[in-house]
Amino acid sequence: MAEPEVMQKIVSLAKRRGFVFQSSEIYGGLRSAYDYGPLGVELKRNIVAEWWRAMVYEREDIVGLDAAIIMHPKVWEASGHLAGFSDPLVDCRNCKERFRADKAPKVAAGTEVSYQEGGKKGGKTLKGVAERGYVCPNCGGGDLSDERRFNLMFRSSIGPVDTIEEIAKYVETHRDLEGGALREALDGVIRQSAVYLRPETAQAMFVQFLNVQESLGMKVPFGIAQTGRSFRNEITVEHFVFRSCEFDQMEMEFFCEPGSQAEWLKYWCEQRLAWYQRFANHPERLRLRQHHPDELAHYADDCYDVEYEYPWGWDELEGIASRTDYDLNKHAEHSGKKLSYFDPQKPNPETGKPGLRYVPYVIEPAAGATRTLLMLLLDAYHEEAVPDAKGEDATRVVLKLHPRLAPYKAAVLPLVKKDGLPEIGHDIVKKFLQAGLFVSYDEQHAIGRRYRRHDEAGTPYCLTVDGQTKQDQTVTIRYRDDMRQERIPIERAVDVVREKLQRGDR
Ligand code: ATP
Repeated sequence: MAEPEVMQKIVSLAKRRGFVFQSSEIYGGLRSAYDYGPLGVELKRNIVAEWWRAMVYEREDIVGLDAAIIMHPKVWEASGHLAGFSDPLVDCRNCKERFRADKAPKVAAGTEVSYQEGGKKGGKTLKGVAERGYVCPNCGGGDLSDERRFNLMFRSSIGPVDTIEEIAKYVETHRDLEGGALREALDGVIRQSAVYLRPETAQAMFVQFLNVQESLGMKVPFGIAQTGRSFRNEITVEHFVFRSCEFDQMEMEFFCEPGSQAEWLKYWCEQRLAWYQRFANHPERLRLRQHHPDELAHYADDCYDVEYEYPWGWDELEGIASRTDYDLNKHAEHSGKKLSYFDPQKPNPETGKPGLRYVPYVIEPAAGATRTLLMLLLDAYHEEAVPDAKGEDATRVVLKLHPRLAPYKAAVLPLVKKDGLPEIGHDIVKKFLQAGLFVSYDEQHAIGRRYRRHDEAGTPYCLTVDGQTKQDQTVTIRYRDDMRQERIPIERAVDVVREKLQRGDR
């Protein structure tokens, strides 16, 4: 399927089945903001829960953190986000598209390019030269504005400060200033009361390094994990929830001894790739890609991306960076607090005696929960031809989500709405809910339609209550992926589903 077609199908299924809605849709929507509906919120929570299970609950060396979204503004000064967290922004003079230079299609500098006037189909063909080594992603033209840096952090102010009034007062008393100098001065005025919505969850783990290490007596190597919402005023929002201004992250900072970072980077790359592959139907669409030296952030000594083969090609799913001791050093420098670790056993090479203090190095696997959700929808989407109830060709759409990630673990379906079958169905639902398994009771429409509905919702098992149920207290369990059915006793239903979830049975 071509890219637009697949994406349209995913967007439409996401809306139809209550996974993802456009934010504020009745008001025309807000650019790149999305709401996760009843099934989307379950899928997202399950993704985060599986990440937390793998990163925190199944290990002894990683602990969690839930930090404030608005942090001291000095955090962003120290981390470099205030000065450097910006994208190179370019305007196309031909079609007026505004885009990120680093994401634009690359062509050798000096190549002749042709494009339609105004970027319109059927427009006059124009010729030009791609002087910068890239062209406009919309029209392919090379007539581009200069690159401007645009800071991606959302700014607000804290306390009873009226920023407009502060600015007005300043302008009043500095009438001689204009242009760049005025802009810079006003920026200084705003910064006095400015706070920022965090553009990543990572910094809190550096800032709280000592509190976490000391309060729990953690020994290096150890990690701090955090999940939560981050905000970036992205210039280019694209591919549905792939890049949005508000998104959920799952990040972990792993503190290790200097010199051991290459080994730990390799370890975490393997762990993280395997984590995605465990839940994927198409593990071959996942890979690790090492950054070229010219792609590396200045503080990183190595970096890999876990990439997925999206409908538009291979692109980032998670970044795993070896960040050296840069962040702890920067926060130590800006806060005046010593952010180091003392190992009482390790011999000090200078004295030869046990006891060495050092600043740990950091490996950071940084994943996006909302980007993972999109990847999983794409990976799970499946169409197949099956005859409908009348024996005619029909398309069955199945969301082959891993059972542990699926929003509903099962659907309970009474064959008819009478003869006591709904009561038996409700009883079964109650047992599942009491056992902590989220299931759906569904009696609307013919059974075939209900199966299709739950196939699309990714429900791995349907439990059907029928005439035989009243005679022998059994129900059929129907499997989403291959539609096979078997009978199981009602009293075992919860255990059967729980065991299947544990094993990931399809
Ligand atoms: P990109 O190159 O795609 O802009 P990045 O390298 O800036 O991403 P990181 O800062 O490493 O991303 O963030 C870690 C992860 O957070 C990404 O791999 C992605 O899964 C997620 N993420 C980052 N920005 C966004 C966004 N705007 N929308 C959704 N997810 C995002």
